[in-house]
Amino acid sequence: MNGEQGIANIRSVLQTVDDPELPSVSVLDLGMVHDVTLQGRNVMITMVPTFAGCPALDFIELNVKKAVEDVEWVDTCDVHFTFEHQWSTDAITDRGKEQLKKHGISPPPENYQPGDEWTVNCPFCGSDYTSMENVFGPTACRSILYCSACRNPFEAMKPVVSLTKS
Ligand SMILES: [Zn+2]
Repeated sequence: MNGEQGIANIRSVLQTVDDPELPSVSVLDLGMVHDVTLQGRNVMITMVPTFAGCPALDFIELNVKKAVEDVEWVDTCDVHFTFEHQWSTDAITDRGKEQLKKHGISPPPENYQPGDEWTVNCPFCGSDYTSMENVFGPTACRSILYCSACRNPFEAMKPVVSLTKS
């Protein structure tokens, strides 16, 4: 297993590790994986934490470590969260956004700037005729909305903007 193949292998494993608060969206599709490096059979993964308010980082770290250490050629996996890079909802991949919609969660707007009006499209029918029901939602990072077109309640992920754009 050479380095490049090894890293591709690890990334495909990370594709199977979900954020416990966002079922079926992998940590890779959330844009949380900053870097994967190998030292022989030891894997080092640097991750960028998502919403500061989501207390799931310990679970994510554990799940990532477990999944990677299950790979046959891996001896150890170290997961490290970096706070030098700031995550934003723009880091979520298109695949991640599709997965969110399948679960009735409207993905965050792209290239959102603080102060912009935030229009949310219904994940079921695409209508933007929606109203905010409960800004607090089940977790700090989501809000409950109601679609006036198809009359379904749904959740929306709040936009998070990186303040230190690189
Ligand atoms: Zn709708």
